[in-house]
Amino acid sequence: MTKILLQETTAFHPVLAVAGRVATAERVPVYAIGGYVRDLLMGRPSKDIDFVTLGDGIAMARKVAAQMEDRPEVIVYKNFGTAMFRTGDVQVEFVGARRESYRSQSRKPAVSPGTLEDDQKRRDFTINALAIDLSEDHFGELVDPFNGMHDLDQRTIRTPQDPDITYQDDPLRMLRAIRFATQLHFNIEKASLDSIRRCRDRIGIVSTERVSEELNKIISAPRPSEGFRLLFDTGLLKLILPQLAALQGVQYMDGKGHKDNFYHTLKVLDNVASVSDNLWLRWAALLHDIAKPATQRYDKDAGWTFHGHEDKGARMVPGIFRRLKLPLNEKMRYVQKLVQLHLRPIVLAQEIVTDSAIRRLLFDAGEQVDDLMMLCEADITSKNEEKVRRYRKNFELVRRKLSEVEEKDRIRNWQPPVTGELIMETFGLKPSREVGIIKTAIREAILDGVIPNNYDEAYRFMLEKGRELGLHPVS
Ligand code: ATP
Repeated sequence: MTKILLQETTAFHPVLAVAGRVATAERVPVYAIGGYVRDLLMGRPSKDIDFVTLGDGIAMARKVAAQMEDRPEVIVYKNFGTAMFRTGDVQVEFVGARRESYRSQSRKPAVSPGTLEDDQKRRDFTINALAIDLSEDHFGELVDPFNGMHDLDQRTIRTPQDPDITYQDDPLRMLRAIRFATQLHFNIEKASLDSIRRCRDRIGIVSTERVSEELNKIISAPRPSEGFRLLFDTGLLKLILPQLAALQGVQYMDGKGHKDNFYHTLKVLDNVASVSDNLWLRWAALLHDIAKPATQRYDKDAGWTFHGHEDKGARMVPGIFRRLKLPLNEKMRYVQKLVQLHLRPIVLAQEIVTDSAIRRLLFDAGEQVDDLMMLCEADITSKNEEKVRRYRKNFELVRRKLSEVEEKDRIRNWQPPVTGELIMETFGLKPSREVGIIKTAIREAILDGVIPNNYDEAYRFMLEKGRELGLHPVS
């Protein structure tokens, strides 16, 4: 047995010592187990500590909580035989050791009391099956029947039992394997990967919410592309996000190919991930070219084109969010907006950067302009270094202009100084087409720099437009 030396691992949480004292006094073995042990050994912070006892988990939780200085309240989940409490910012859970047996149509097992090893065996991966003995005589000893420590050293994801059984029993584990590999930068051992390929269709019995939770964790990892490559290679991506899998592949016409939009998208996603933790900005990166297959055309002169993929892509976002049960609120609209606008700064960077083009971009992107710029810069993945250098330089210019124009005109979150109500009041109009025409004309004139952005000029312009439409101010 490997003994973890206390002085080497100063990060032991105090609740471990309390649980150890109670275990010794009660003569009931208690172990810290699972993710907490894995993270402790890897030097990663962890906010959840799971304990398993060879007895009644609920009774043990109550006894340990009673010995804690902060006397936390114990919450009991009778049906699951578990109990938890919070101490400081850490969540602690107790359960009795159990063995599990599965039926084919559900990932919810039948459970019965078992040994520590039964409990370790029911866990998904060897690195998640490590336990630390807390009893006084053995405090800090690692219980590792499945060589999890070796797999941690080798950075390998492996299942404690035959992977076909592990993944058939609970197919969510296929996504967890890929998620852990991505988060921890581990490899999935070949037998496991082969098994995931064989078992992939079982993902159908996993609830959408759980699938999306794992997807979001993959997207939040330092290099999310690692997870998406695995999802693609195992065939899972086609089942859970087919629109993304459809981006893969290159077609040729007259010997001309376009770039592989799947691998390009992954590069953009990694680029965004290296500068921002914003999950929804990362989603925008993932979906920015989602409509390329649907809009792809070949033209003898122009080569491959994807006209309108930004509009169609933005229209596809709600369907994808609905299918994955992701929030259909301002998060989705944010992703839609970035997909819709993702070509704008790059078009701008290729042309002469006029103030009016900048004002339009600021007006359309509003609060999201900085995120949009991050997405667009991440979108430069050309292998042609000269081209990349040129784009980057132009982007610098766009950024400089954006802050100059913003400073001068304050267009971000801007509303034109003359409102629809004022137009109606001035000309004695009811809500009508004319009001819209005048309002748009004022907004466009300001954005184009025809008139300055102030009330007096806008009012004067409104009167002029009214006259053109045959309207007269009511005095
Ligand atoms: P994270 O907190 O990053 O999700 P974790 O390993 O702590 O990582 P939890 O979902 O909190 O993950 O699960 C705690 C432990 O419970 C895991 O370490 C593992 O031992 C076990 N476990 C969780 N889900 C499963 C599962 N689907 N199949 C088998 N064991 C599981």
